[in-house]
Formats: sequence, C-alpha cells, structure tokens
Amino acid sequence: MIPVPGFEGRRVAVFGLGRSGITAARALQAGGATPILWDDGEAGRAQAKGEGFTIEDLAAADWSNFAALVLSPGAPLTHPRPHWTVDLARAAGVPVLGDIELFARALASYSSSSSGLTGRPRVVAITGTNGKSTTTALIGWVLKSAGLTVHVGGNIGVGVLALPEPTPDAVYVIEVSSYQLDLTTTFAPDVAILTNISPDHLDRHGGMDGYVAAKARIFANQGRDDVALVGVDDSWGQGIASELSQRVIAISSSPSPLGGEGGSRSETDEGFVGPSSAGGRPEDTAPSSERLRRPPSPPRGEGYVALPGAILESDQVIADLTAARSLPGRHNAQNAAFAYATARALGLDHDAAVAGLLSFPGLAHRMEAVGRLGSVRFINDSKATNADAARQALASYRSVFWIAGGVPKTGGIDDLADLFPRIAKAYLIGDAADAFAATLADTPHVIARTLDAAVAAAAADAASAGGDQIVLLSPACASFDQFKDFEARGEAFRAAVLALGAVPETAS
Ligand code: ADP
Repeated sequence: MIPVPGFEGRRVAVFGLGRSGITAARALQAGGATPILWDDGEAGRAQAKGEGFTIEDLAAADWSNFAALVLSPGAPLTHPRPHWTVDLARAAGVPVLGDIELFARALASYSSSSSGLTGRPRVVAITGTNGKSTTTALIGWVLKSAGLTVHVGGNIGVGVLALPEPTPDAVYVIEVSSYQLDLTTTFAPDVAILTNISPDHLDRHGGMDGYVAAKARIFANQGRDDVALVGVDDSWGQGIASELSQRVIAISSSPSPLGGEGGSRSETDEGFVGPSSAGGRPEDTAPSSERLRRPPSPPRGEGYVALPGAILESDQVIADLTAARSLPGRHNAQNAAFAYATARALGLDHDAAVAGLLSFPGLAHRMEAVGRLGSVRFINDSKATNADAARQALASYRSVFWIAGGVPKTGGIDDLADLFPRIAKAYLIGDAADAFAATLADTPHVIARTLDAAVAAAAADAASAGGDQIVLLSPACASFDQFKDFEARGEAFRAAVLALGAVPETAS
C-alpha cells in the first residue's frame, strides 16, 4: 500500500466504498489522516465498519472540518448532475479529489524527500477510449522483461494506492479512466499516453467536449522534460497533440502523416508486406465518418507509424511484429508502438524493447487464442463490448466465423457494414440477435441464441469449410443479458471450445 501524506491529523471525507474507496481510506490512514467514510449502500458501510473505520453520514456532517473529499470515480463530478457530496464540498470550499490524485501527491512527497538518492520512482500513465488495458499490460511486460521493478495497476487489476510503496528504482504503469482524470489536479506522469478517442461515456462528461477535456488532463501537469505519447488517428488526438509544449511523440496508423505524402508501402490487414511498386495508400479500416473528420496535416515532431505487423520510424520498419502472436491487427501494432516509445523514453535499448513486444503473452479476453481444433483456431475477444472494438478484431482477418450479440450499444453493428464481406457466417446470441440479423441482411448468419450453440455451429461450419479458419467471439455488445460480465462470457467461450475437444493454445 502507498501511504498518502499531507493530511496528517485532519479529517478527510471518503465517499463510495467500493474497492478504490476502501483502499483510499486505508492509504489515508496509513499517512496519518482520519478518514470519515460513507456510502449510500449498506454493504460498503458494513465492510468499512468491520475494518474499524469511522462511518459518518456525510449528508449530516460538518463539512467545515474536512481537508478534502475523496470521491469514487463511480460518482458523478459534473454530469448528469454533481453528486450531492460534491455540492456539499463545494459549498464548504473543500477540494474534491480521486485516488490517482492521492497517488500523485504521495509520489511527489516521496520524490522531494528522497533527493539524496540517485533515482526516483517514475510513472507511466495510459488513457484512451480503447486499448488502455492492452497497452498498460504490454508496457508492464516489456519493462519487466528488461529487468525493471514494475508495478502495474490503476483502472486495471490492483487499485493504484494498493500497489507496493515507492522505491527509487520503481516504475508505476497506471491505467487511468476519464472519470479518474477528472478528479486529478497535480498528476504529472513522466510518460503520459492517450491511445485514441471516440465518443464514449458522454452522459458522465456532458458531451464530447467534456470527455475530450477529461482525457487531455493526463498531459496537463507534465513538465517540459516529460513525454506525451498521443494517438493521432482521430481529430481529437491531433488537436490535443498540437496544443502541447512538452516532448510529443505521435503514434499514427497512416503512413502519410509522418512518412511523407501518399505513403510508399502497401499492407494488408493481416500483416505488413513491404514496399509497394504501386505506391498506393493502405486500406483504412476506420469508419468513413471518422476519416472525414481527420484534418490532413500531422502534428509536428517525433513519431512512429503502426501498421499491422510492423512499427515504422521515418518510413523505415524498426520492429517486425509478425512473430508477436499476441499482437495481431492494426490496433495492436498501435499498442505496440506506444509500448516501444515508452520503453525507449525510459532508457531501454532498441533490442530489449522489441524482445519484450515479441514475447508478450497477451491479455485474457482480448483477441486471445484459446484453442485449436484441426485447422480451426478459436479467438476470444469477449472484451469487445462495442462496435468500435469489434471492428478491430474483424479487420484482423480476411474471413471469419463470427459470434456476436448480447446487450447492444446505440447503433448496433450498423457501422461495421464495410467489414461484412469478411464474415463467412455470423452466429448471433442474446438480446441483440434479431436486430443484428436484420442489419446483416444478406450476409450469411444464423440466430444461435446461446453461446454454446453458437460455438458448436461455428466450429462445425469452419471445419467443413476446410483449410485454416478462424472462429471469433467479438460480441460488439455488453454481456449482462446472459453473463455476469465480459470475463464470464470469455470463460464460457473457452469452456465451450475446449468441450469440443480443442487443444488449448498456451502462451509461448
Ligand atoms: P480498454 O481497457 O480501453 O477497454 P482493451 O485493451 O481492454 O481496452 O481492449 C478493448 C477492446 O478494444 C478489445 O476488444 C480490443 O480488440 C480493442 N482495442 C485494443 N486496442 C485498441 C486500439 N489501440 N484501438 C482500438 N481498439 C483497440
């Protein structure tokens, strides 16, 4: 645990007693503060009480005595309307903070008090609409493989304040959500990463401007020597990158912005295939509306281009990713480029950075190879809970037996129509099945209803098609009509695949 200093002997209100709230209370107490806890739910209060914390109804509390309100990221700061604790805090002039801000303050005090030491702990922070967890895990893996002392957490796995105490050599690799960023004021990562932005969580941010502003906060307190890695495939990332004054490294999926007009290489979605005599532009798998929003010119400065199977710098391939079995597709090349740039920024040499990328075992439920039956491979992308994420998976294969459905998001799979020619057949499950069937129209599909039925039918069809085939679970939907969460859905897929006699694929 990381003790939080700065509130010694003072009362700090903590609202929201999920995992991060309880952890924050422990960390505050360890730093000498007196946390005062509250939650609308009985269960959270009972757990906190069981740990010996002071429980007090914050609606009736004297706010003039609080040094801060630590708010759970699950409670709204601004939209649709501020949480009642936020109203009370503001009326009393009490600052509202989140766990990432407490972490930032703990680290800042550690760094200033450890001036006699040669090193100081460093922080890599990752945000973005998609790719946060993969990029976070990949960076953690690459740095660990090179022998660094690495702690991975935040919005993935262990909450940030539950990570081990700082040591001079430690590197914290932290996934941060837009809600958490909204609750920061001094957080200044040594390396800050914005993977991409597309509309998400707009209800909680009062629209797109609020969402983009929350994401941009990851860069707000960085100094001139800090590094900002920005995905510039969308206009929001481009806009943010062009405003920054620290060292900016742009990560792009298009050869032209950083490598000269028109591009000089060709590719397929399955892999980078080297220079093209025709010199054509690569196929672009972004939605057409997205492409239209992109301004033509790139941000200035350094950058890498991520193509499926390769990372390029100055139009030269610097890392061939075709042997990286857990990084298929354009989106994973992008995640790899972020990891490569981070590793280099932290002082790793080129060979160590690339070796780490190639040995990454992957994350469960994200394009995870779970089994092979003859020449049919089964891929678990249960984490694809929206169409944008499923797009990345579908775009990674020329032909696919696709299992989709669950609780659909607004727009369903309408935006994926350009990828329908890649679908050998779709197997539709859950609430979305009928609507997706209507959208697919002439694209071969069947309403399977359950995941087990879908796996059995897809496996049989893929086997009879002959040759190398892919059965892909990438639902483009939330899971809660049939499963507890996306993890349970992915595990059910794995179990169904193995029950057919498939041989598990283990990370090499
Ligand atoms: P997050 O933590 O942001 O939700 P994950 O790494 O868990 O991101 O991936 C979520 C989904 O997004 C996966 O289905 C994956 O295929 C897709 N994805 C991963 N990386 C990217 C990326 N760089 N751009 C777009 N989509 C991505």
